[in-house]
Amino acid sequence: MAGDTGERLTAVIVGAGMSGLLAAIKLKERGIDDFVVLERSDSVGGTWYDNQYPGASCDVPSHLYSYSFAPNPNWTRAFARQPEILAYFRDVAERYGLNPHIRFGTEVEGASFDEAAGEWQVRGADGGRWTARILIVGAGQLNRPWSPDIEGKESFRGTQFHSARWNLDVDLTGQRVASIGNGASAVQYIPEIAPLAEKLTIFQRSSNWLIPRPDEEITPKQHALFKKLPILRQALRLLIYSINESRWGAFRKAGSWASRRLEKMARDHLTAQVHDPKLRELLTPDYPIGCKRILITDDYYPAVCRPNVEIVSEPIARIVPDGIETQSGKKVPLDVIIWGTGFATAGFLMPIDIVGRSGKRLHDVWANGAEAHRGVTVAGFPNMFVMYGPNTNLGHNSIIFMSERQMDYILPLIDTILARDLALLDVKPGPQAAYNRELQAKLATTVWSENCGSWYKHDGKITNNWSGSTIAFWRQMRKVDLDSYELVPRGKVKVAA
Ligand code: NAP
Repeated sequence: MAGDTGERLTAVIVGAGMSGLLAAIKLKERGIDDFVVLERSDSVGGTWYDNQYPGASCDVPSHLYSYSFAPNPNWTRAFARQPEILAYFRDVAERYGLNPHIRFGTEVEGASFDEAAGEWQVRGADGGRWTARILIVGAGQLNRPWSPDIEGKESFRGTQFHSARWNLDVDLTGQRVASIGNGASAVQYIPEIAPLAEKLTIFQRSSNWLIPRPDEEITPKQHALFKKLPILRQALRLLIYSINESRWGAFRKAGSWASRRLEKMARDHLTAQVHDPKLRELLTPDYPIGCKRILITDDYYPAVCRPNVEIVSEPIARIVPDGIETQSGKKVPLDVIIWGTGFATAGFLMPIDIVGRSGKRLHDVWANGAEAHRGVTVAGFPNMFVMYGPNTNLGHNSIIFMSERQMDYILPLIDTILARDLALLDVKPGPQAAYNRELQAKLATTVWSENCGSWYKHDGKITNNWSGSTIAFWRQMRKVDLDSYELVPRGKVKVAA
């Protein structure tokens, strides 16, 4: 095993989350064993390690939310909770022999491409150095917790923390608690903490579309059946995938038949669970369904109907030492503030400083919105593969499926680098630009281009989401377009003086 002292490796993988582990498994399957996985935290699991808030769970049903080649017949619920998902990824890392490759507690500070040598030089914040022919970055889109700069934030005398850095030492029993934000994370922790708090105030800037979550326990009898007849589990996986995929039509165009059907489902859910017309109005979004992420929960509406829960929909003016003041002068006294305000999603791969050919910095190249060729390669950054990169996110199906398709595309490119002993495999600017023109033209007619604020877009450009169905992504990623790449063998690189 190579060490951290600048030894030469075939590959460095950044991140031991869902994508990084997948890349590591696939490299090993290819017989590539000299690689390291650099992980800043002290566990595998990525988002499933970071997000330990009460009620954290996956809104993709369990039997679909696993690698296709590593099913888990033991999920205990239809929608698994975070501890079980984290345990799954830890088990996969163990089963596939990945742990000896992973350097925990190693934050990557930067990586620079040495054009003459055809190698990436990777720097760890703790002084570690690695040199590798291939760089795979699986740092995720949702890994930098973000909260707005609200006046007086630092003056608050109570406790405050972000949902993705939940303070497990704080007992919320009998406390006056605020949740700033009511997004995907908040709708999961609010039902858990509402019964504990003396008073829970939700600061809601906009409301969300919610649809039912058919969660239930998977019984020991079902487990036994899945073990005995794996084909049943496979059939269930395919069924879940197909149901999710059938929802794509609702995202393809706002106001379509599929979108109206989904909106009806959401409106019926609201009507069934919230009987106060004023509260119902407050909870009804004013934008087309799907424009922001659709939230899947049966517990949120009952939680907000509790007498100790209040929704405040007017803007926050400031935070004061003992609470929050709104713009109309309303004062909410508080002991705890939870920032459920999401993640910094614009600067993909921030804060890693990636320097490619001719000293080009990825941050500068992506300053006006990240883009990549097929979501994984970037012109000027040879032999680098981004996983869950620009325009690979979804609103309707499993991200694990998308990551596996990215590996389908990346592996033949890695094979090409190694088999032809290439110094550079660099996507040409022309094909990358053409790909993104077509992608953005398709995205322009999707529901995400409608009038709503979401983390899917930055300055109006949809940088995070894929433009079609997952089947379309699959079709695209199966075909490796080597002619879109500049291929330069080792020893033939001409570096400008
Ligand atoms: P989020 O869904 O983006 O929600 C952020 C919340 O903070 C929104 O309610 C937003 O209001 C609010 N907010 C932001 N800035 C604010 C401000 N200045 N003042 C008041 N409110 C403000 O973030 P998240 O809940 O952390 O989820 C992020 C993503 O993580 C999700 O979209 C999803 O992809 C993923 N996630 C997935 C699961 C899962 O089950 N698989 C669970 C949790 C998270 P606006 O709506 O008005 O912007």
